[in-house]
Amino acid sequence: MAKHAITVAKGDGIGPEIMQANLRVLNALGADLEIDYIDVGEKVFREGFSNGIRPQAWDSLKRTRVLLKAPITTPQGGGFKSINVTLRKTLGLYANVRPCVSFSPFIATKHPKMDVVIVRENEEDLYAGIEHRQTPNVFQCLKLVTIPGSRKIIRYAFEYAKANGRKKVSCFTKDNIMKMTDGIFHKIFNEIASEYPEMSTDHWIVDIGFARLANQPELFDVIVTLNLYGDILSDIAAEISGSVGLAGSANIGEKYALFEAIHGSAPLIAGQNKANPSGLILSSVMMLNHLNEKNLAQVLHNAWLTTIEEGIHTSDVYNADISKQCVGTREFADALIERLGQEPHTFEPVKYDATPPMNLEVRAKAAALVEREWVGIDVFIYNQDQDLDTLADHLTKVGATDFNLLLITSRGLKVWPESFGDIMLGDHWRARFMYQGSNPQSATLIIAALLKNCFENDIDVIKTENLYNFDGEPGYTQAQGE
Ligand code: NAD
Repeated sequence: MAKHAITVAKGDGIGPEIMQANLRVLNALGADLEIDYIDVGEKVFREGFSNGIRPQAWDSLKRTRVLLKAPITTPQGGGFKSINVTLRKTLGLYANVRPCVSFSPFIATKHPKMDVVIVRENEEDLYAGIEHRQTPNVFQCLKLVTIPGSRKIIRYAFEYAKANGRKKVSCFTKDNIMKMTDGIFHKIFNEIASEYPEMSTDHWIVDIGFARLANQPELFDVIVTLNLYGDILSDIAAEISGSVGLAGSANIGEKYALFEAIHGSAPLIAGQNKANPSGLILSSVMMLNHLNEKNLAQVLHNAWLTTIEEGIHTSDVYNADISKQCVGTREFADALIERLGQEPHTFEPVKYDATPPMNLEVRAKAAALVEREWVGIDVFIYNQDQDLDTLADHLTKVGATDFNLLLITSRGLKVWPESFGDIMLGDHWRARFMYQGSNPQSATLIIAALLKNCFENDIDVIKTENLYNFDGEPGYTQAQGE
C-alpha cells in the first residue's frame, strides 16, 4: 500500500499539462503516493454545480486531507462561486504561504536578492463573498475581519518566520482608511509582535508597501497581510522575481492542506506545451515537506535548481543572453527528471532535514470578555424622489422621541445637517439614529417600531446596521465630514 494518499485535481487551461508533467516528476522521484483524482472547475460548473465541485469530491478530501491542485478557470459573471475560495474556506485553510524568490543570475530579474515569503490570510476579508445590489445604482461587498482569524494568521506568520530562520515580519494594511477592519489587524500585529522581541517588525500602508516591494523587495522578509492585498501582492512579487509561473503556494489549515501554483489557468497558452510547470513543482516540494518526506523534497528542489542553473527554461523565463535552451512543459519535466539526485553548483543546495512542517501549531488565546452596549442604528434607504430636506424631515419624524437623527450620508459622506456645497445626489442614503432613551429592554423591539414608522412614512429601508459601543468605545466609524 502506498504511504501517502493524496487527492489531485488537474484543473483547467494549462492545468492538465502542468499537472501531468508534475506527476511524472513525482513518479520518477519515487514518491510513494496513492492518488485519488477529482474534477473541479469548468467541467463541473457546466454540470450545474455552481461552486465547481461535486459533492463526492469532499469524501476524497476527508480521507486524504491533502489536495494537490492545478489552476482552474472561474467562469466570469454571476451564479458561479470561486472553487478556490470555497475549498480554502470549507477546509479551514487559513494560511496561504507564498515564497517568492529570484533565481539570479539564471532567470532575468531586476531584483537579484529577492527572497520574500508572503503569508496571506485566506478565509476572510472581502472574500466572504457577501455582495448585494442594494439600489439600481449601488453595489456592496462586505469586508469581514475577525479577531480570532487575524490572531491565527499573524501568529502563524511569526511562528513561520521563527521556524525558518527569518529575521523580519512586515504587516501590510490600509488602516488609515479602513480603521476598524484593517485597524484591528494592525493592532493585533502589534500585540503579537511584542511576544517575539527577537524578530524585527514593521508596518506598511499597502500603497507604499506594494510600491516599495516592487522596487526594493530586498527590504522584506516575511509579509503578513489580509486576503485581498495578499492575493495582489503575491502575483506582483512572483512576477518581479522572474515570472508568475515560478511560485508555488501552500494553503495550510489545522486538518487539511492544499498545494497549488499561484498563477491561474492561463487559457491563452493552454494545450500548447508552453506553460512553465515550476509553480506546481515547487508546490509539490512544499507538499512533500508537509508529508514529512524531507529527503524527497530536498532531492526534487535541488534537481529543479540544477535545471534552472543549467539554463533549461520555458518560454516565460527564457532570455537569449542567459538561457541555454528554450523548452516546452514536457521537455522541462524530462530535463528535471534527468537531474534528480544532482545538486546545483551556483545556487546554494537546499537542505530540508531541519525544515519544520508547514502546519505549525498556533496557540489560540482565549477571547477577552467585552461589554457590548447598543447605542443606535444606521438605516440605509433607497430614495430617488424626495429632496434631502424633505427626506430629513421625514426621518426626524420617524425617529420620534426614541432617537436623535444624527446625520445623513451619501456614499459615506455627511450631507445633512450641513454639507459642503454640491454633492452628487444618488439613490442610496444612510441615516444615523442615536438612541436617546434609557436602558433599552429590547433593542430589537425599539428598532422594529422605528422600521414600522419608516414603512408608514414611505421610507424605503434597504438594510439596517446596529451601532454598539464595546467597553465604552464606539464600534462604528464616524461619517466622512462629520
Ligand atoms: P493567469 O495567472 O492565468 O495568467 C496571467 C499571465 O501569466 C498570462 O499571460 C499567462 O499566460 C501567464 N502565465 C500564467 N501562468 C503561467 C505559466 N505557468 N507559464 C507561463 N506563463 C504563465 O491569470 P489570469 O489570466 O488573470 O487568469 C486566468 C484564469 O485563471 C481565470 O479564470 C482566473 O479566475 C483563474 N485563476 C485561477 C487560480 C487558481 O486556480 N488558483 C489563480 C488565479 C487565477
